[in-house]
Amino acid sequence: MMKEKIEFLIFEKGMPGGLLRYANRVDNLLGRLGTAGKDLSDEMVSHALSMGIGIRNEEVVGLVRVEDGFRITTKGGEIRSDMVILATGSTPVRSDLAGIKYELERPEEMAGTRLLIIGGGDLALDNALRARGSSVNVTILHRSEIKANRGLKDEVAAAGIKLIEGKVEDLKFVDGSYVLNGERRYDHLAAFIGRSPDRSLVEKMGEVSVNHPSHSTSVKGLYLVGDAASVESSQAAYAMSSGLSAAMDIGRRLKADGNGP
Ligand SMILES: Cc1cc2nc3c(=O)[nH]c(=O)nc-3n(C[C@H](O)[C@H](O)[C@H](O)COP(=O)(O)OP(=O)(O)OC[C@H]3O[C@@H](n4cnc5c(N)ncnc54)[C@H](O)[C@@H]3O)c2cc1C
Repeated sequence: MMKEKIEFLIFEKGMPGGLLRYANRVDNLLGRLGTAGKDLSDEMVSHALSMGIGIRNEEVVGLVRVEDGFRITTKGGEIRSDMVILATGSTPVRSDLAGIKYELERPEEMAGTRLLIIGGGDLALDNALRARGSSVNVTILHRSEIKANRGLKDEVAAAGIKLIEGKVEDLKFVDGSYVLNGERRYDHLAAFIGRSPDRSLVEKMGEVSVNHPSHSTSVKGLYLVGDAASVESSQAAYAMSSGLSAAMDIGRRLKADGNGP
């Protein structure tokens, strides 16, 4: 969009860089092998900032389709935009146990403590490895067969991370720690039991369908990309390519409407 001289602004409610910063090690981005997700995220943000891309640290709390585009409400005010790319990512499936974590922000602060991770998919095992790398004593509680990819399974086994088959219902929160089956105690509890696209901003717009490959939607001027478009394709390369498809489509539309550069 910069190349097409399209005026745009990014809103980010938290840390720019998104979910990738929690990845233990990213091996599936061509040209980058074995990079920690946090380093990759930091580099992406530096890249954007060095090109003069504006990232406003504000949460978008409202998005309304109006006749000539969109009214976007943030905690800081309101702006209008002709088009919107929604790249809000995903939200975790939650459990109702007290104090449970859904992201390991700073595992190094948990070094030497006992962490129980619930889940048996890629995210659970990847987070377990990242915590283990920060000297956290990690155990994984899974209720059925481990569904994570074979590479992660092998790494978890090589790291000596303990796997216990059991149910969340076997856990109790007693005197500030988590007790499993009345015997094992853990200082921290985290759950990685699935994620769903975060489309909360467009909930009131009804069913929004995504067109491929442009990632435009059934709502005029609205694009959905990355995990917000599909958690089945939850990969950084998909987030990038769908964002690029949306940006290119916007460029083409503006030119076709005679509004291009
Ligand atoms: C532990 C882990 C390991 C992973 N490993 C890999 C890997 O090895 N390789 C790989 O390709 N992918 C990996 N992934 C997946 C990858 O991180 C995601 O697919 C990718 O980050 C999706 O990008 P996104 O931009 O769609 O969403 P996100 O990265 O989730 O970014 C969405 C952003 O939107 C912001 N936001 C949301 N709502 C609002 C709002 N209302 N206002 C303002 N800002 C808002 C959020 O704060 C967030 O920063 C991993 C993910 C995890 C959790």
